[in-house]
Amino acid sequence: VTEDDTTQPLGFKEVPAHYAGERETVDKMRDACAGDYEFAVACDMMALKYRDRSGRKTQGDAGKELWWAQMAAHVRGQGEDPRAYRGPSHAPYERPRRDSLVLDSGFLRDVEAWGHGDSADLEAGIIEAARQSTAGSFRGWERDSRLLKYLYTNKHSTPFEFAGLTIEVKAPIFVFRQWHRHRTQSYNEVSARYVEIPSDFYIPTVYRLMADGGANKQAQGTGAKLDEVAASAFQRKILCRYEELDADYKAAIQDGVPKELARLMMGVGQYSQMRATANLRNWLGFLTLRHDPHAQWEIRQYAIALHGVLSARFPQTMALWDGGTP
Ligand SMILES: Cc1cc2nc3c(=O)[nH]c(=O)nc-3n(C[C@H](O)[C@H](O)[C@H](O)COP(=O)(O)OP(=O)(O)OC[C@H]3O[C@@H](n4cnc5c(N)ncnc54)[C@H](O)[C@@H]3O)c2cc1C
Repeated sequence: VTEDDTTQPLGFKEVPAHYAGERETVDKMRDACAGDYEFAVACDMMALKYRDRSGRKTQGDAGKELWWAQMAAHVRGQGEDPRAYRGPSHAPYERPRRDSLVLDSGFLRDVEAWGHGDSADLEAGIIEAARQSTAGSFRGWERDSRLLKYLYTNKHSTPFEFAGLTIEVKAPIFVFRQWHRHRTQSYNEVSARYVEIPSDFYIPTVYRLMADGGANKQAQGTGAKLDEVAASAFQRKILCRYEELDADYKAAIQDGVPKELARLMMGVGQYSQMRATANLRNWLGFLTLRHDPHAQWEIRQYAIALHGVLSARFPQTMALWDGGTP
């Protein structure tokens, strides 16, 4: 089977022969991208390329378009890996940790982390800050893991303020409204006074709409049971309302209404984007509240993504956090 075999709807059945012994382009693309968000968009662009040239260049472009579209969906967590049928020889796609796609159109991206102090190790500055009291410095993790644990367990928290992280987040406005209650982070958000609001709204899935809040009182409905039909009717209603609002917003801007006033009609499901920065101590405080099942499911998805980024950057501290807040 070759990659031009049109009988295979997904394009490449086996590793294409011209890649023999080499990494495939898709893997090189994944490495070149900062994370899921960029990689999914790159896959979209490949699908676009094959759609545009389909029937005009080589046989099998329609299959390739489908293959890249499926890879894009897979990276977004919405379908099977198009290479899965290759069997055990196929190394599955692993999500990189630098950024994550969250909800239907949001993301959380690691911009910058600090905390290495005088050492190359990102968490060493925490130890160095603690050792100021004895005029000492970082001695390597074989010895200093114990000190880190001691600091964490005994709530000697200020050394954890010598490390930190800046992230970029795209989330619905109602998530930002909860997020901005955390006063120890610094924020800068895109301004709808300067920038036209994009047509980007959060649409919860039918199953999210039907989810039972369990013991979480804030997540509970009236007790009436929402079935799949009613949930999808409500979902369609949200979508129609968003589309209507979006058309009215764009028309108002065309008519000369200033952006700062045209936005008044937009709802809290509208996506927005911000940068947030905080020291590690405060990120842990945020996680404690927003990674918890009592937090609303949507902000919790961002807390889970943040947990991934923090674990990649600060593995020793996050292992302590995972072991339980002292
Ligand atoms: C599940 C859940 C449900 C919630 N429901 C509601 C709700 O119904 N209505 C509502 O209004 N809010 C609600 N909140 C928001 C909540 O009340 C807090 O505002 C939010 O969680 C931020 O917590 P924080 O003040 O500890 O965090 P931060 O602002 O990040 O502060 C971190 C810590 O710094 C210290 N600190 C910061 N500022 C001050 C200050 N001015 N004075 C003294 N100490 C300070 C405190 O020790 C604080 O814990 C909810 C939060 C959660 C997690």
